[in-house]
Amino acid sequence: MTDKSHTAKRGLNTTLAHSGNNPHDYFGFVNPPIVHASTVLFPDAATLESGKQRYTYGTHGTPTTDALAEAVNVLDGAAGTIIVPSGLAAVTMPLLAFLKSGDHLLMVDSVYYPTRRFCDTMLRDLGVETTYYDPHVGAGIAALIRANTKVVFTESPGSNTFEIQDIPAISKAAHTKDAVVMMDNTWATPVYFKPLDFGVDITIQAGTKYPGGHSDVLLGLVSANAKHWRKLLDVQTVTGVCANSDDSYQVLKSMRTMGIRLERHQKSALDLATALQDRPGVARVLHPALPDFPDHAMWKRDFNGSSGLFSIVLDAKGNPDHWREKAHAFLDALQIFGLGYSWGGYESLAVLVHLEDRTIAKCPVEGSVIRLQIGLEDAQDLMIDIERGLEAANNII
Ligand SMILES: *Cc1c(COP(=O)(O)O)cnc(C)c1O
Repeated sequence: MTDKSHTAKRGLNTTLAHSGNNPHDYFGFVNPPIVHASTVLFPDAATLESGKQRYTYGTHGTPTTDALAEAVNVLDGAAGTIIVPSGLAAVTMPLLAFLKSGDHLLMVDSVYYPTRRFCDTMLRDLGVETTYYDPHVGAGIAALIRANTKVVFTESPGSNTFEIQDIPAISKAAHTKDAVVMMDNTWATPVYFKPLDFGVDITIQAGTKYPGGHSDVLLGLVSANAKHWRKLLDVQTVTGVCANSDDSYQVLKSMRTMGIRLERHQKSALDLATALQDRPGVARVLHPALPDFPDHAMWKRDFNGSSGLFSIVLDAKGNPDHWREKAHAFLDALQIFGLGYSWGGYESLAVLVHLEDRTIAKCPVEGSVIRLQIGLEDAQDLMIDIERGLEAANNII
């Protein structure tokens, strides 16, 4: 079941249903056992000393965490995957693994805010300098790479504003200078974009989002190509930042349905985004799968699909005093959408986005940005709810 040459020819949903564990390795039970473990026993002193037993201690993995890691390896085409306690840890651990004092990091300006906060605090204090770059830099990244640039970090689409990066061009330029390319691929998941196939060395997912799928678990997944796998694994071994079997089980269980869930998230989100383009009170819709979105051609070139997260820019009609008031009116009128952070679960969510941290990537000037996570509810009910919100916002004049 974990033989890649065999699974390579299978369709996505078949792969998701059957990768990770082989039921016949555990009495034929379809799902892997949830192994709770710190201590692992050795049969004799020679084995204890040999270092050759498959499992040696809980921090180094269990059959449950291995099943999830293997399922992610197959999906991403990765040499190996480490599982960490949150999506944020999935960002910070590879940065700590590949950067040291005196190194330089190139970080996309449209990055997930907590990633920026990590660079501006802990990495800075460790003596790593960060330069933020334009998400549209493309091959121009070459001019920003210094002798001590060790990592080029990408996130595409950009957080909340959905800029698409030219990942193949950035990877090519970075590799000519021996920099490691990392990508936060949480939005597309490997279902709709496989970073390692586009030259990325280390790919990151918040397992919390679509892989978890039910707003009840936090987990991070970091996968590497063959060249960088050892060093990535070392950071987990050295720091002891590991995930437990219960959470790993939950995420693997949910990944079995990730393909069909994403189909529904994709369709509902795109239908709503399309309809919202013409609604009074909406200045713009930020969704890379819309033909009018500025980066649409690049999205179409590289991605197989789009997920359920996009933003709308409310139209404040040139009155800056109304930005927040309109946003609050919109959010407070919603009855189905919950107001809350994170996304990727079955239920719809909305938040007001803050972009003040950006230094290069231009923020919308028309009004507040509202981020919508489109869940698995009936899309017509969600549209009615959004219209309720827009009506409330439009009443502020
Ligand atoms: C949510 C998110 C994370 C962090 O995941 P957590 O599990 O919430 O820590 C990282 N990157 C992106 C792009 C995210 O959306």
